[in-house]
Amino acid sequence: MLTDAHCHPFDLREQMPNAEEARRARNAACAASSWNLRQFEFHEGLAQNAKADNAPPLVLCYAVHPQLPASVLNLDEYYSTLEELAASGRLEAVGEAGFDLFDETYKTTEKIQDEIFAVHLEAAMKHHLPMVVHGRKAMHKIFPFSKELKKLPSVIFHSWPGTLVEGESLLHRGVNVFFSFGAAIVNNHHEAQRCCASLPLDRLLVETDAPYQPLRGKDFSSWEDLPAIIQKAAKLRNDAGSPGKSADELEEIIEKNFRRAFQFHD
Ligand SMILES: [Zn+2]
Repeated sequence: MLTDAHCHPFDLREQMPNAEEARRARNAACAASSWNLRQFEFHEGLAQNAKADNAPPLVLCYAVHPQLPASVLNLDEYYSTLEELAASGRLEAVGEAGFDLFDETYKTTEKIQDEIFAVHLEAAMKHHLPMVVHGRKAMHKIFPFSKELKKLPSVIFHSWPGTLVEGESLLHRGVNVFFSFGAAIVNNHHEAQRCCASLPLDRLLVETDAPYQPLRGKDFSSWEDLPAIIQKAAKLRNDAGSPGKSADELEEIIEKNFRRAFQFHD
């Protein structure tokens, strides 16, 4: 089964009105990130229908995107929604959560990003939920929380933004970390390629971040891209002399990793 460790089905509908049919046709499980309750409830509806039809599952993730703290008009209300979703068992992962200090505009919200991250981390620890992390120019903000991250069932770095040394260091610190790769490895981002080729096989995930990270030449990303991403990952590993796996074998290993990362109990 194909797996997509990070995507936004609610947002994808705009470019791809038949996105859910396409997901089922591809037999792709996915972790759907929402940054407000409307999106979450939409994803929850998809997940319930998928379950009823025995279609590939959606994992329900929720957190204010680190680029969007200003979109939250009432933080207290946001925090209580997060707590309610987590306490009721409807929430399956906190994310995408983290830091974005990519440019000057995002940097102006650093303080509020700090506050929100602390709350996200607290909620994930309290309810034993995996966390999906977004970080741009922000690995230095994440390392100080290693001790807390270690307490989480798993930490999934979407579009792994770090270096190989940083990835290995998180593993050495005992964080149950998974590294997710998408368009960056196909579009020749060298550090991402190096990490995808060399990090341990049982830590790899793939993602589309649909619709936001298109392969070169495309307007948006979707599950249609997953085979190309897996093929590229397999080629990178073989070229680097890492244990040779075919794309099909890698797809299977990545599915197992996905199930572990998101706590599937089967
Ligand atoms: Zn995203």
